[in-house]
Amino acid sequence: MYGFPIQYEEPVFRPPSEGRSLLIQQTIGCSNNKCTYCNMYRSKTYREREQSEVLRDIENSANYFKKLGRFPEKVFLCDGDALGAPTENLLSSLKKINESFPDDTRVGVYATAENMLLKSDEDLRSLRSQGLKIAYLGMESGCDKVLHLTVKGNNAQDMIDGCTKLQNAGIDLSVICMLGLGGKKFTSSHVEQTAKVLSQINPTYLSFLTTMAIEGTPYHRMVQRGFEMLTVKELLTELRDIIDLCDFKKDVLFRTNHVSNMYPVGGVLNKDKTSILDTLNQWIDKTPEGTYPPKPSHM
Ligand code: SF4
Repeated sequence: MYGFPIQYEEPVFRPPSEGRSLLIQQTIGCSNNKCTYCNMYRSKTYREREQSEVLRDIENSANYFKKLGRFPEKVFLCDGDALGAPTENLLSSLKKINESFPDDTRVGVYATAENMLLKSDEDLRSLRSQGLKIAYLGMESGCDKVLHLTVKGNNAQDMIDGCTKLQNAGIDLSVICMLGLGGKKFTSSHVEQTAKVLSQINPTYLSFLTTMAIEGTPYHRMVQRGFEMLTVKELLTELRDIIDLCDFKKDVLFRTNHVSNMYPVGGVLNKDKTSILDTLNQWIDKTPEGTYPPKPSHM
């Protein structure tokens, strides 16, 4: 965007649904930065930005949009787990956004289970009351063996506890899981445990990514040494089985719309479960055995 006043510390990532959001870097990198399949922030060392820099970015971008005569509907706080920033800094950013942007601006953030657990109930309620409306968690799997294998940094119970805390504070939760993350070895427990944990968490939004072995990552090296990844047919079968086993008490908006997914599908669970399963079964039937998804160099 010509004349846009923010100089980002690249690379910058955001969820697909934040594609039209104003991005503000509250933190740089990811505080975990160890997940074996992820190369998103490997070029960055995690740090919390000076709050004065964050406030300057918010103010400058608000002035820019004011001159433009239109504001973005959403602001997304980056990088990989900005919920891990000190609560007072996040509250200060939210206050500035409230003062500088229209009243109904939605603020979102990436979060880890660790971030959620380290915040007090009071912290989370204050963040919600100041406008933090949604957090995105890369849960990836509900299976502890898979979470351990991929050095996720939190186990399934942490995911449940963190998400419960966050949602009790009134913050919407969007959970992302990864198809095929446990490879052929852990596919059964990945399916069963992911469905079980998702059913307990009952997020507002749920999406799935397809696991890719990205060159340069420990996961890629594991695959080179013989860890067996799933074929397209097996990935679709995992997705079908997880959806089939999930039992939600409240509506979940489900979608697979990430660039790494070959087959976009979506709907409201449990309401659209039958039609989603029908679609997945048709794809499974049509997909030949032994084909693998394309290999990107990044996600
Ligand atoms: S997957 Fe998420 S938590 Fe793990 S290293 Fe990447 S950004 Fe960090």
